[in-house]
Amino acid sequence: MLAERMKNLHPYVPGEQPKDRDYIKLNANENPYSPSPVVQKAVCKAAKKQRARMGLYPDPDSHELKEAIADMLNKTGGVLSRTVLSGGRKNGSGADCTPDAHDRIPFAVTSDMIYCGNGSDEVLSFVFYAFFNSDRPLVLPAFTYSFYPVYAGFYQIPLDAVPLKADWSLDTDAMLSRANSADTSIIFANPNAPTGIGLSRAEVRALLEKAPKDRVFVVDEAYVDFGGESCIPLLTDFPNLVVVRTFSKSLCGAGMRLGYLVASPDLVNAVTTVKNSLNHFPVDYIAQQAGIASCKDAGYYVRASKLVVEERESFITFLKDRGWDVIPSKTNFVFARKIDEATGKAKSGEAMYRAIKEQGILVRHFATPGIEDFLRITIGTHEQMFALKKAMEQL
Ligand SMILES: *Cc1c(COP(=O)(O)O)cnc(C)c1O
Repeated sequence: MLAERMKNLHPYVPGEQPKDRDYIKLNANENPYSPSPVVQKAVCKAAKKQRARMGLYPDPDSHELKEAIADMLNKTGGVLSRTVLSGGRKNGSGADCTPDAHDRIPFAVTSDMIYCGNGSDEVLSFVFYAFFNSDRPLVLPAFTYSFYPVYAGFYQIPLDAVPLKADWSLDTDAMLSRANSADTSIIFANPNAPTGIGLSRAEVRALLEKAPKDRVFVVDEAYVDFGGESCIPLLTDFPNLVVVRTFSKSLCGAGMRLGYLVASPDLVNAVTTVKNSLNHFPVDYIAQQAGIASCKDAGYYVRASKLVVEERESFITFLKDRGWDVIPSKTNFVFARKIDEATGKAKSGEAMYRAIKEQGILVRHFATPGIEDFLRITIGTHEQMFALKKAMEQL
């Protein structure tokens, strides 16, 4: 009964969401903080006072949300953990934001440079459809966001996966030479997942300068707010660049399902054409209101991102002191493996994962050959990290 094409599907497996026990969840890179109180108010208002609005279709192109996103990017510089705050409450709510000098975007991001979708996963799937051909391989790192191969299967786009370097960073020279020899596109997450390592903007610029100019180049900045360098400032120099971002990590909004991309208006129009051929209204009314309110209270998320970065640095020190091999992270997670003192070899990641789970804490383990010794541990609140450290002392 199934269509032929079903054989190309290899669905993504998300971090587990168990119901049997109240685990501390550090396995899906969600933000441990709740959305800003301003967002909670906006959602209640949208649901209550404007009840009649729920019976109407939402704005198919999320115009007001795009304006709010553009405004937030211009005000913060697009890397929340480095944005400078002034005034506001202790939790950052209501504060004014000024970009760190290094992050300041040298032009005004406008709403015609933004496309909004139902989570960045959906945005990515439309990007795959709009820009990647099935007559040539898409170049990507061998270890990166595991949804990319899933979309490649869905749209039948062949892949050319380039191994990481020995220090787990991207092999940019190899990616470049393969992209040039096949005259094809490149996609990667920056900072990358699940490793957590980021390329600098200068490094991405160097790649863009030598990569095929007539092929779209995609940088997924899901984690950039936790200390990476955004490529948005490169957009005016590279009309083939697409920067994908999400509300799910630094904007504490994984449940709202909001993602977006920033690119030249031409590329935004192409993705909009895909959307209008598949699902005219991907972002519902409540999510649009929640997103707008989030962007308007960026100070709250700046504060939350800074807290996550502080906890991450303290956790990395904790791990290193206890003989873990930790990959440097610019994200809201840490990728690490325990080295056995006696043998100098890594202990089983699977066993570590199980031992931590027994103590009521979920972290992520990938059985994928090459990274099977590692755990990917999401940074939680101070209390959650305290509990995790205590649990890990028992290992
Ligand atoms: C979490 C994540 C996404 C997906 O974000 P959603 O907006 O929740 O769909 C995309 N890319 C990377 C690299 C991620 O880690």
